[in-house]
Amino acid sequence: MKRFTKVFVAALTASAMLLAGCGSTAEETAAPAETTEETAAETTDTAAETDEDEAAPADSAEADSEYGPDVQAIIDRGVLRVGVKNAVEGFGFQDTITGEYSGMEISIAEKIAESLGVDIEFTTVTAATRTELLDSGDIDCVLATFTITDERKENWDFSTPYYTDHVTVLVENASGITDLAGLADKTVGVSSGSTSAKSLVSAMIDAGLISGDGFDEETFDPALWTTGVSFQQYDDYPAISTALSAGEVDAFCVDKSILAIYQTDSRSYIEEEFAPQDYGVATTKGSDFSTYVDGLITTWLADGTIQGFIEENNLQ
Ligand code: GLU
Repeated sequence: MKRFTKVFVAALTASAMLLAGCGSTAEETAAPAETTEETAAETTDTAAETDEDEAAPADSAEADSEYGPDVQAIIDRGVLRVGVKNAVEGFGFQDTITGEYSGMEISIAEKIAESLGVDIEFTTVTAATRTELLDSGDIDCVLATFTITDERKENWDFSTPYYTDHVTVLVENASGITDLAGLADKTVGVSSGSTSAKSLVSAMIDAGLISGDGFDEETFDPALWTTGVSFQQYDDYPAISTALSAGEVDAFCVDKSILAIYQTDSRSYIEEEFAPQDYGVATTKGSDFSTYVDGLITTWLADGTIQGFIEENNLQ
C-alpha cells in the first residue's frame, strides 16, 4: 500500500514537473501561484521516508506521501503563512518601498515553504501579537526573534533553536548611564509580551544590584515590579525609541538584534549583555507541523544551511 502510494506520487510528480517545466525554486514558491497542486505533488516526492504516523521533513531525495493532517492542510492550501518581524535587520526586515522582506528568518521561512512546495505569505507580528495570530490560526508558524522559554513551551511548540542572541540596554549618551548599576531606580521601556523586563531584573539581582526578595520567575509582572528598577510597556519598538528620545523612559531593553536599528550616534549600549535568548520556530502545540519543522531545522543546522543564512546576513 505504501509502496503503491509512493510510485503513484512519483508518477504524479513527474507529470507535475513536466507541466511546470522543471523543479520549483524559492522564488517560484514565494510568488503568488496558481499552480499549488503541482507544487504540492512535487513536494510530496521530495519528502523523507518515515513511519506512517510521523510528519517527515521534505528535504531529502527519498519520497513519501505520508504527512500528518496539519502538514497536509498547509500543502492542500498551497500557502504557508508565517509571522515575522519587519524591523529587525538580519532577521526579519521589510523594505518600506518594495514591501520585500529579508533576513535569516525570512530565508528559513522561504526554505520551509520550498520544502512543502507551497507559496509563502508573510504577516508582520510584534512580541505582543505573534501568539494571538498563531492561536487564532491566522498564521502557521512564527519566526520572529521568538525566544524559547519553559513557560512558553507550555503553550506552543518550538523547534530546536536556530540562533542565540542576548539582551542588553540602549540609553541616550546624555543620560550618563553606562552599565547595569546605572539603571538603579530608573524606568526602562520594554515591549509587552517580551522576556526583556524579567531578564533585566534577573541580571540586576545576579549582579547584586537589587535584592531578589519578591522575585518569582513564574509570576513576574513588569507592570508590578518597582524594586530597584521599574518598567513602562509598549506595543512596539518604535514607540519605545520615541519614548527614550522624549525622556519618558531612561532606557530601552530588549535583545541586541532588535535594538540595533534604534542605535544612533547619540545612543549607546550599556556594558553588559545577559540572558541568552534562543530563537526557535513556534508552532501550534501538538501539531504535526511542529515535528516537521523541527526535522528541517535540525537538518539545516547540521548541514550548514542555517550558518549560511547567518553569514549572508552578517550576523555572528
Ligand atoms: N526575543 C524576546 C522575546 O521573545 C524579545 C521580544 C521580541 O522578540 O520582540 O521575548
